[in-house]
Amino acid sequence: MGTSCDDGTHELYLASVVRGGRGASCRGLGADAQVEITHASDGRELPPWQQWRCPVGEVMRFAVMCDCAGPDASKRPKSTVLKRWDRVLDPRDEDLQQGRLYLAPGGTAMDASKRLDVQTAMRRCWAEHLAPLEKTAQLQAAWTQHRQALADVDDAVHAARTAGLSWVDVGHATGMTRQSARERWGTS
Ligand SMILES: [Zn+2]
Repeated sequence: MGTSCDDGTHELYLASVVRGGRGASCRGLGADAQVEITHASDGRELPPWQQWRCPVGEVMRFAVMCDCAGPDASKRPKSTVLKRWDRVLDPRDEDLQQGRLYLAPGGTAMDASKRLDVQTAMRRCWAEHLAPLEKTAQLQAAWTQHRQALADVDDAVHAARTAGLSWVDVGHATGMTRQSARERWGTS
């Protein structure tokens, strides 16, 4: 349906917003097309028996969405609204920066999201959304490495002591005084 990031945990797409809900997929073509409404206005996903269809002519707004899967792959992804565009019916009224997107009667969000300028604007929102998450992931990875390295040092000190090295030797190898080395690892 949309564009996925490298590891597939985020999916970018354009949803159609109507009175009472929103949806991302369409049935039918042209003016007869209908949007499948899968989410309520508050973002809650509707159970299948509460989903409904709405003529594309009733689409009043668009939402740039990301479905974000957390670290737990068994959970459903969380839908995040990255940007909203009001639909305008006169191309002269369009201004993507100001939140106005032109779509001809009978057009669908799919048609709009094929436009290069719309794709560029969507990807800009997505990059802003992903950047802090990437930094968080980098920090977590660095912290995990750091903890592993500390555990490796503990193991190496234990092995060195077992092999008969003194606290002076351990301190020398780790850039500490004998006393600091002993306080740190003396109980292990
Ligand atoms: Zn996301």
